[in-house]
Amino acid sequence: MAFFSHPSFDQHEKVLFVNDKESGLKAIIAVHDTTLGPAVGGCRMWPYANEEEALNDVLRLSRGMTYKNALAGLDFGGGKSVIIGDPKHDKSEALFRAFGRAVDALGGRYYSAEDVGINTGDIMMAHQETPYMAGLEGKSGDPSPFTALGTFLGIKAAIKHQRGLDSLEGIRVAVQGLGHVGYYLCEHLHQAGAKLVVCDLNPEQLDRAATQLGAEVVDLDAIYSQDVDVYAPCALGATINDHTLPQLKASIVAGCANNQLAEPRHGQALKERGILYAPDYVINAGGIINVSFERDYDAAASEAKVRKIYDTLLAIFAESDKSGQTTGEVADHMAQAIIEGARK
Ligand code: NAD
Repeated sequence: MAFFSHPSFDQHEKVLFVNDKESGLKAIIAVHDTTLGPAVGGCRMWPYANEEEALNDVLRLSRGMTYKNALAGLDFGGGKSVIIGDPKHDKSEALFRAFGRAVDALGGRYYSAEDVGINTGDIMMAHQETPYMAGLEGKSGDPSPFTALGTFLGIKAAIKHQRGLDSLEGIRVAVQGLGHVGYYLCEHLHQAGAKLVVCDLNPEQLDRAATQLGAEVVDLDAIYSQDVDVYAPCALGATINDHTLPQLKASIVAGCANNQLAEPRHGQALKERGILYAPDYVINAGGIINVSFERDYDAAASEAKVRKIYDTLLAIFAESDKSGQTTGEVADHMAQAIIEGARK
């Protein structure tokens, strides 16, 4: 397996491979860049098909955190960790304590938190071994409502930029995934007068959305081809790919999922088709912004900072039109400029 020359390596400062024989922990901790402050990014537990997949995931997510934290105006660098295993069967206190010791060994260079497959209880177990954990019980709490608010404002910014509208009245949005973030997002959209088309694996969530929010329910694979204004990916990554792109009728892609583009070239393909893309790490920064207020928690200050996502996205859309770069490229350059400025 290529390492320093890995396509996703991108000058990572440090990558730690963790093996704990006693608990069975196999994890990778990636610290991408600490120019702006200690690297902060969640831990994901997933039954990766192979080690290459786990390494690629952690490197891409870690780099994304550097850019997300920079553009959100936080004094955090970027990092991420993955635990290779099935969150349904492989969790134990010993495993999370071993993970906590591995994070502790980095001496505060990396702070972990929850992500897919990990809950606050798991983080509390790891916290027994290290102070370097964020998103703790009884502190800033569930980040999802803040991520949903930022995503909602991102959709508003996209509609404003593309159509000059301040209202979402009658705008049709296809929401893929009604989980922690997706459902809150649907509530915001419904309140703002948008029409919802939704899909999920969970029939209870679908019934709830249909009954409470008047959402139209469609099959999983049918979500891409809906006749809507906005496609909001709120479940998995890589849903913008060669297979789904030709099906899209939406003229805006704006959702909370991480790593929405299967490959960077899909950002260019969206632009060529006239589809406005809200870069994932910009629109979904609400949760990490809320976590950044954890030490001295202030919900109003946190919300005010999340609301800035609207202006950041408007600036990115305008620059993309002006320069011809994709919105993702513009966002990357803006984040790099912030980091370079701090370095000097
Ligand atoms: P979640 O696990 O609560 O929700 C995901 C939902 O997607 C579930 O309801 C699941 O049933 C559904 N789903 C799974 N596969 C699907 C498919 N093929 N089609 C349709 N639905 C499917 O996760 P979440 O916390 O709501 O996060 C959603 C996404 O947003 C993830 O990509 C996550 O990384 C990202 N994100 C979340 C936060 C946060 O604050 N929770 C912050 C930033 C980014």
